[in-house]
Amino acid sequence: MIPYGRQDIINDDIDAVIEVLKSDFITQGPQVPLFESAIKSAVNVKYACALNSATSGLHVACLALGVGKGDLVWTSPVTFVASANCALYCGAEIDFVDIDPKTYNLCPMALEEKLSDAKRKNLPLPKVVIPVHLCGQSCEMDKIHALSIEYGFAIIEDASHAIGGKYQNSPIGNCQYSDITVFSFHPVKIVTTGEGGAVTTNNEAIAKKINLYRTHGITRDEKLMKNSSQGGWYYEQIALGLNYRMTDIQAALGVSQMSRLNDFILKRNKLAERYDASLNNLPLVIPHQIEDSFSSRHLYVIRLKLDKISLSHKEVFNKLRENGIGVNLHYIPVHLHPYYRDLGFTKGQFPISETYYRDAISIPLFSSMTTNQQDEVINILTSILKNSS
Ligand SMILES: *Cc1c(COP(=O)(O)O)cnc(C)c1O
Repeated sequence: MIPYGRQDIINDDIDAVIEVLKSDFITQGPQVPLFESAIKSAVNVKYACALNSATSGLHVACLALGVGKGDLVWTSPVTFVASANCALYCGAEIDFVDIDPKTYNLCPMALEEKLSDAKRKNLPLPKVVIPVHLCGQSCEMDKIHALSIEYGFAIIEDASHAIGGKYQNSPIGNCQYSDITVFSFHPVKIVTTGEGGAVTTNNEAIAKKINLYRTHGITRDEKLMKNSSQGGWYYEQIALGLNYRMTDIQAALGVSQMSRLNDFILKRNKLAERYDASLNNLPLVIPHQIEDSFSSRHLYVIRLKLDKISLSHKEVFNKLRENGIGVNLHYIPVHLHPYYRDLGFTKGQFPISETYYRDAISIPLFSSMTTNQQDEVINILTSILKNSS
């Protein structure tokens, strides 16, 4: 089976991890700040905090912005559940803004409409909006940022797909149009640490809070303590934090992987362009790229033109899997999951997202994919669609 995504590990990565295993530190040690420095310089931001996952990153990002009971957070329905769950962890309420039919990202026009509608009806406005850079293509951050000033909400970018990508020629994660950006280093993402995540910000107060929440709310910094130190052993818990630390084993892998970030992005973009050229004449829609975006190309999503073929969405999906093409679907709209239905969300609430779900398929794309593997995907997909149109 050719997977839809897979890690790209070479001997240098393996050696870096072995070095750590032989060293004094295997949990958070010297590799973690090295990894954070690599992220800071790659995305051109002041502060980076490595964590054990992007899910943790989204949680501490919400905590650092003071999200709590009585607050409202908005995100896109077409995302991994973690983008929405983070609000619920904090006791806040979640709602969604439908996607743009071309980019599949949170639609700034739909956002504006929902905001002005809420204002007019005296309904609560969001405290935080979480745009998700689906497949690695940035949301239209300048527009979302302008709305954040008008309506007074904070912005967390869920850039789990997007490290190495750019928006308006600047690296995603520099927080030019947001308060906080979150990255994931799960093995299918661009760069991996096995499990892992990171949060970036230019705001010192937010960075300090996130560092505190990462490790139980405990500080050894005397300037932050309520009382004076009672001895060399002394530390204080000054907030209710968590254990969201990354290990040095993971961070060493991350440092090694980050040195290949540009290469990963180049390879993914070449493969995506090759798909664009080869699939263009089939009854499907290839990914639309906005002018301001340079995508990391985490995922390659095709939309089937179901009115032009005799097979159903599920039949095409199953035929691809039967033929060894490890396709997937990103994502089941979050509001349609049973847990979210129980919160009161219903089918039909976000129609553009639901239409997307009825015809989207993620086909294999990963940096170590060979031309032969890609040709196999193209040939099998072409024959399935040609025979049914
Ligand atoms: C992968 C992913 C996450 C969660 O990342 P983890 O590191 O696995 O916690 C969150 N949001 C999006 C959009 C993702 O793709």
